[in-house]
Amino acid sequence: KASSAEPSPSPGKGIENVVIIGSGPAGYTAAIYAARANLKPVVFEGYQVGGVPGGQLMTTTEVENFPGFPDGITGPDLMDRMRRQAERWGAELFQEDVESLDVKSSPFTVKSSERKVKCHSIIYATGATARRLKLPREDEFWSRGISACAICDGASPLFKRQVLAVVGGGDTATEEALYLTKYARHVHLLVRKDQLRASKAMQDRVINNPNVTVHFNTETLDIVSNTKGQMSGILTRKTDTGEESVLEAKGLFYGIGHSPNSQLLEGQVELDSAGYVLVQDGSGKTSVEGVFAAGDVQDHEWRQAITAAGSGCIAALSVERYLVSNN
Ligand code: FAD
Repeated sequence: KASSAEPSPSPGKGIENVVIIGSGPAGYTAAIYAARANLKPVVFEGYQVGGVPGGQLMTTTEVENFPGFPDGITGPDLMDRMRRQAERWGAELFQEDVESLDVKSSPFTVKSSERKVKCHSIIYATGATARRLKLPREDEFWSRGISACAICDGASPLFKRQVLAVVGGGDTATEEALYLTKYARHVHLLVRKDQLRASKAMQDRVINNPNVTVHFNTETLDIVSNTKGQMSGILTRKTDTGEESVLEAKGLFYGIGHSPNSQLLEGQVELDSAGYVLVQDGSGKTSVEGVFAAGDVQDHEWRQAITAAGSGCIAALSVERYLVSNN
């Protein structure tokens, strides 16, 4: 979609109140609140995840833990509802990626390949991307055996009472493994190195849990399927002996971390060492006045749709206050 032509100007007149970047639960919730506050938000939805707006939940099937849907709802359906709700209240949506931002002086400038928008405030809600192993059959089994979220998927019929595996050696992986023991028949933790990187407390908890087997020096190579095409195991290789074998498992959870999509803010707004946007507790305010962040891009801990939506709401309400106090 990149274009060499100079972007066309903003469709709005003059300087927009707020530009929202991202179309996950955080971005759309911020858009609903900002639109209802009559701020006429401009939303850059992006198309990075699967070529469509809607964020990470567009890559999943059932969402069973978003309040209000007692029978569950598919990720795409939930996101379509949020999108329509934002549109209904007058948010202006553009299916474009923001390519650059300038928040060094106010009004700020937001540029996509199609347009350049000046604005008084920004809500940055570009999410995070679960790191992948890039296994040969990863795409085939994504959401059909491979997951990046134990809290989201651990209790689903696909995984309940099955033998599961988690790959990774840090806090995320050990937390995922322990969480899965609530539902799984047994959990294998596949660790490439000869030790865990997780905190001592987490290490003790997994090693002493009879429902977790830790496999050190074990590299995860690929998914193995049965004659029905369902996941039946994981091909692994011992890094010390080179021996390959198949571990029987119906699910593989990635616990190898997430990368926040904060590249556009680098050098302009304070980020932590892992690249997450630093926000002031409970306000969504970043180190730059008028720039707010919401959702997974500022949250390395909870990473849920409902927490992302909640922080989107907070950011929009903070923007409303900011605009009133700066008028
Ligand atoms: P995201 O959903 O990541 O959305 C970010 C948006 O920003 C995307 O639309 C992206 O295209 C856009 N964007 C990025 N860069 C740019 C740019 N430069 N310009 C414009 N737009 C940009 N959570 C649950 O609560 N329940 C579940 O059942 C559940 N299941 C999950 C299943 C899977 C497979 C995955 C990966 C996650 C799951 N999660 C679940 C976690 C949940 O999806 C995330 O916590 C939530 O989506 C985070 O919302 P967000 O708005 O912060 O970001």
